[in-house]
Amino acid sequence: MLISNIELIPIVTRRHEHHPSAHVIVRIETDAGITGYGEMPDLSHAPAIMPDVGDLELCLNDLLRGRRPQNVTEINKVLNAVFPGTRFGGKSSLVRCGVDIAVWDILGKATNQPVCDLIGGHSRQGVPICYPIFRMKRMDDIDSNLEVVAGRLAQGFDCFRLYVGADPDVDEAFMDRFQRRFGDRARIVAIDASGLLSVKEAIGLWKRLHPYGFDLYESPVNRYDVEGLAEVRRSVSSPISEHIHSEEYAFRLIKEERAVDIFNVSVSVAGGITAARRLLDLADMAGLACLIGTTQETSIATAAQAHVGASCPRLDYHSDPVGPLLYIDDVAKERVRFVDGQMLVPEGAGLGIEVDEAVLEELRKPLSSRGDIDAGFLRG
Ligand code: MG
Repeated sequence: MLISNIELIPIVTRRHEHHPSAHVIVRIETDAGITGYGEMPDLSHAPAIMPDVGDLELCLNDLLRGRRPQNVTEINKVLNAVFPGTRFGGKSSLVRCGVDIAVWDILGKATNQPVCDLIGGHSRQGVPICYPIFRMKRMDDIDSNLEVVAGRLAQGFDCFRLYVGADPDVDEAFMDRFQRRFGDRARIVAIDASGLLSVKEAIGLWKRLHPYGFDLYESPVNRYDVEGLAEVRRSVSSPISEHIHSEEYAFRLIKEERAVDIFNVSVSVAGGITAARRLLDLADMAGLACLIGTTQETSIATAAQAHVGASCPRLDYHSDPVGPLLYIDDVAKERVRFVDGQMLVPEGAGLGIEVDEAVLEELRKPLSSRGDIDAGFLRG
C-alpha cells in the first residue's frame, strides 16, 4: 500500500458562541483504494499568517506520495524536518497533525481496527471531560455563562474548566454565583489563565479563587517563562498544568525546573497522534500527570484525541476537547459523542468517523485571518 494522493480542503465552522474557526481537512488516498482523513484544526489562532493551501498541497504530495503509510516513524521524521516544531500557536504542528491523523486512519481501515487498538488499546473506556467556560471581561458576561453551565449540566457534564485572568473580580464573582446556584451538582475542576498573568498576578488570583475549590491551575504565566512557572508552582498548593508543544520543552520542564505537575497534551499542539503519544509516554516516564488538551477540533481530530486519550498510559485529570459540541458545523455524518461527561471513542475501523463529503463542500472556504483580527483573538 502506497500513498497516491493528498488533498487539502480548507473549511470554516461556525460556533454556538464566539467567532468561527478555520480548519484544513486532509484527505490521503492510497493505491489500495483506502482513503484516510486528517485535520489541521483551528488555524484561527495567532500568528495571523495562513498557509497557501494549494502550495502546501503540492509540497505534501512531493514529500509523501509513494511512501508506505505503515512507515509512521519515517513519515513523522520527514514532516518534522520540513515543518519543524514551532512555539505554541505556530501552524507547523497543525500541518504535521493533519497528515499523521490521516495516516493512522488509513492504517486502521487497512487492518479493520480502531486506531486506539493500534496505539496501545483501551486503557480506559472514555475520556473524562470538563466543559470550557470562556474568559469573561465584564460582570454582564456572568449570567449567560451560568446558563451555558445549566444547559451542559442537563446534557450530563458536571465538571467545568473556567478561563480566568481578564478581571479577577469577575472571576471570583462567577465562582461564587456558580457555587451558590449549582452547589454539589457541578464543579469547576480547572482554572486556566492562558499564560496572560505575571507571577504576582497569578499567585494573587489563585489566593482569591482557591477557597472555591478546583483540581488544577493551567497556564498561570507565560509558558516560556519556565522559572516563573516554577515560582508559581512553589507558591500555590494546586497542581500546575501546561500545554506541551515540543519534546525539547517537555525535557526542559522535567529536567531543569520541574516546573509543572501536569502535561497538557493534544494532537493539535503536539503535531499528531504519534507526537502526542511520545509526549504522553515521556510524562509517564517522568512520573508526571497528564490530561488531553485542545485547540477545539472538529470530529476528525477530536476522534484522534479520543483514541489517544483512551489508550495512553495515564490520564489523571479532566480533559477538554469538546469541538463537536462547540461547533454548529461539523464534517462528520455522526459526531464524536459525549455521554455522562465522558468523550467516547468512536467505534469502527480507523478513526471511526465517516466524513460527509457534501457538508465538506458546503463548508469549504479560503483561509483568512481577517475575522480573527476583528475578533481580537478573543477565542478561548
Ligand atoms: Mg489551556
